[in-house]
Amino acid sequence: MITIKNGLVLTGHTLKPIETNVIINDEGRIIKLSPNYEEGEIIDATNCIVLPAFINAHIHIGDSISKDVGDGLTIQELVEPPNGLKHQILAKASDQELINAMHETAKEMLYSGTSTFIDFREGGIKGIELLKQAIYDLPINACILGRSDKYYDPTTTPEEARLITRELLQHCEGIGLSGVQDVDPEIMQQIADVCNQEDKLAVIHVAEYYQLQEQSVQLTNQTEIERALKAGFTTLVHATHPILQDLEIMEATSPVIVACPRSNGMLSVGIPPVSAYVENDIDVALGTDNVMFNQPDMFREMEYTLKALRASYKNKITAYDVLKMATINGFKILGKDISIKEGNISDILIIKRKSDDPYLSIVNRSSSEDIINFIMGNQM
Ligand SMILES: [Zn+2]
Repeated sequence: MITIKNGLVLTGHTLKPIETNVIINDEGRIIKLSPNYEEGEIIDATNCIVLPAFINAHIHIGDSISKDVGDGLTIQELVEPPNGLKHQILAKASDQELINAMHETAKEMLYSGTSTFIDFREGGIKGIELLKQAIYDLPINACILGRSDKYYDPTTTPEEARLITRELLQHCEGIGLSGVQDVDPEIMQQIADVCNQEDKLAVIHVAEYYQLQEQSVQLTNQTEIERALKAGFTTLVHATHPILQDLEIMEATSPVIVACPRSNGMLSVGIPPVSAYVENDIDVALGTDNVMFNQPDMFREMEYTLKALRASYKNKITAYDVLKMATINGFKILGKDISIKEGNISDILIIKRKSDDPYLSIVNRSSSEDIINFIMGNQM
């Protein structure tokens, strides 16, 4: 048993602050929230906030091999498959170099309070297995979304794409597609269909920059967001430039949007209108995207999100909204509830409290150095 004592605990889905003890059993499950009860080992959380751990809802951990290269190149030159700079570097790297770089990044995520990450993994089954090797000795949870290079081959038929997807899904939790216009529309549809049939995740980059949306409408009379949702994708990454009826379509279909504001900033493509999504009750999670451009640190992502959004869209977003994106909302993609309540597995951070407002204290003031404990029940 463990009792986290004297902390301000952000409880339930609403992260409601309550002064209470948190009692965790030997299986890592929260068995009691009570200010008057304690048992077992005591963790003193005086002057601390007790909150759910972070989820990095979108990362390309393989890019750990190419940190800060190609600064100033266009987004297409940097990341577009199959010949963007990152793909050239990935192709040249040895397996061991890739494993070492991914291992370091996973450690950095743990150090900054991230218990779980959702990765877009290139390189087919081999790429997936390399990531598993890179993290096998680390207490971090990886949701790996695979992708096959054959998706981009114009000779691949929709039926072949289904078979390739089925085979990939035996090794990972879903498919992460690079973009709506990178693959044949029929193949995109088949990939999402197989994922949904097998109860796996179908995730895709959409509307990362404005021209993508323009081209999509010119070619098909539909936006990228519309096409991805109609094809059956349930989680959309970026959605930096919704246009036309996109907001209404999103409201009707309830995808989770994974915003990556620092990545969008680094690539000069804009600020995603996250405040509009929040206002329209569309769930938003946060991801740090390519390690090529960003440290995979959710404290940094949260602070940038709050301030970039306020700078661009006035004072509509709160630190509370942002903290929810980095915790509760990201886990919705995985169908998991990691909120702090009785019965749930503990996935808990204890960090120093810097101000009276617990949400601003975390989002505006805190960093990795403020973490005093990290309790991952499913690793106990
Ligand atoms: Zn991405």
